[in-house]
Amino acid sequence: MTIASINPATNQTFQEFEPLSKDDVITAIDVANTAYQDWRRETFAQRKRCLLKFAELLRSSADEYARTITLDMGKRISESQYEIEYCAKIAEFYAHGAEQFLADQPMDVEGVKAYIHYEPLGIVMGVMPWNFPFYQVVRFAAPNIMAGNTVMIKHASNVPQCAETIEALFHRSGLPRGVYTNLFIPTEFVETIVSDDRVRGISLTGSEPAGAAVAALAGKHLKRSVLELGGNDPFVVLEDADMAEVIPQAVKGRMVNAGQSCVASKRFIVVEAVAEEFLTGFKEQLSALQMGDPLDEETTLAPLSSESAAVQLQNQVQASIDAGATVRLGGDRPDREGAYFNPTLLTDVTPDMPTFDQELFGPVATVYVVEDEAAAIELANQSSYGLGGSVFTADIERGRRVAEQIESGMVFVNQPTRSQAELPFGGIKNSGYGRELSHLGILEFVNKKLIHLG
Ligand code: NAP
Repeated sequence: MTIASINPATNQTFQEFEPLSKDDVITAIDVANTAYQDWRRETFAQRKRCLLKFAELLRSSADEYARTITLDMGKRISESQYEIEYCAKIAEFYAHGAEQFLADQPMDVEGVKAYIHYEPLGIVMGVMPWNFPFYQVVRFAAPNIMAGNTVMIKHASNVPQCAETIEALFHRSGLPRGVYTNLFIPTEFVETIVSDDRVRGISLTGSEPAGAAVAALAGKHLKRSVLELGGNDPFVVLEDADMAEVIPQAVKGRMVNAGQSCVASKRFIVVEAVAEEFLTGFKEQLSALQMGDPLDEETTLAPLSSESAAVQLQNQVQASIDAGATVRLGGDRPDREGAYFNPTLLTDVTPDMPTFDQELFGPVATVYVVEDEAAAIELANQSSYGLGGSVFTADIERGRRVAEQIESGMVFVNQPTRSQAELPFGGIKNSGYGRELSHLGILEFVNKKLIHLG
């Protein structure tokens, strides 16, 4: 296994990193456990000081960290800058909110004097993906650090510069050694960590196969787990929606992070009365995207995260075309250096095609035309995933009704699914279980202890 930073815009290797040995991993667990004995008793005020310092450090060199993201995994520089600012907001959200979220909770039961008291669990492990390489880590680490747990991270192998930078930032923010640890390890070592008695939980954000592997390990060793996995989010367009508003949102929803977001809008389900207008406008706006260097502010379509990601997407798209899908735009890779993929629009994808129920992780939109609202809901739910989703309509009440019938963890009316520190994030079905962000995110890895008085 290689842990390497390879610029996907040029396919040039910037730096390779040595993985740790098993002995190194055991030593790291020892250090994290020693740190936990003190950190669990640390005051909220002290934990808060560290996280606020972390947010301040992020902001003080935001451009430098944004560049690190873009060079590791190819995201447009403005999206990287947004990610750094968002991480600072998440850190602040938990710094200010944790004490209240974890305050003792009296039980209102007649004849009983009891309350719930929240306590940390120990070391918790995060296995993280490359697509939002700062955000995914911070949304897991910030609440757990505030709750008094200590955190060990195995980041994706293609974003090592980000992994190293985040660890350095946490250390500079005043966290004692061992409260936050980055581990450059192969996936085989995840079991070494999960099987250790001192490690009490694991959270994975990533693909379905990785989630299933980690859930199996968690089950085998009786550890708590949270899984934030892939999605195939529906973007439902009803006949009363205003196309001038919907089409730019469709482009934004699909093309965030060059299409590599778990909650990107992926299946555009459009009622036939407005389908032609939607398709024409969507195609026109997708065609206008400017492919280019992600460090260039003018670029509106960046490369994918790696050459292998671009090859995989090409294979999936080709499988759909071979099975009878119609290519309205793109469908292939441009003739240029780097992991680029042309903006692509497919129609006539049917349930018998292998890609119908697969996540397409790149700038590929699939449009389905349906007769009416009922057919749109039925198709939206015809997925093994259930992460996010959106509904577009002029009638908010109708949007609410449709949203309630979509099988997923999050549905947004008149905007694509997005993440916000104060709002819960997570899915159902094969998109995983558990919630991150909001007050729910900090409750995943704590003991909700009942204290009964007399
Ligand atoms: P991935 O290949 O599953 O990798 C994610 C992480 O899991 C990496 O650190 C990877 O390590 C590790 N991993 C892979 N196989 C493993 C195994 N068998 N045991 C333990 N760890 C394992 O996913 P990705 O390609 O980085 O990320 C894209 C996927 O993540 C997409 O499906 C996307 O939808 C999903 N995602 C979900 C959310 C959410 O919140 N629901 C957010 C972002 C992304 P290596 O890099 O060393 O292989």
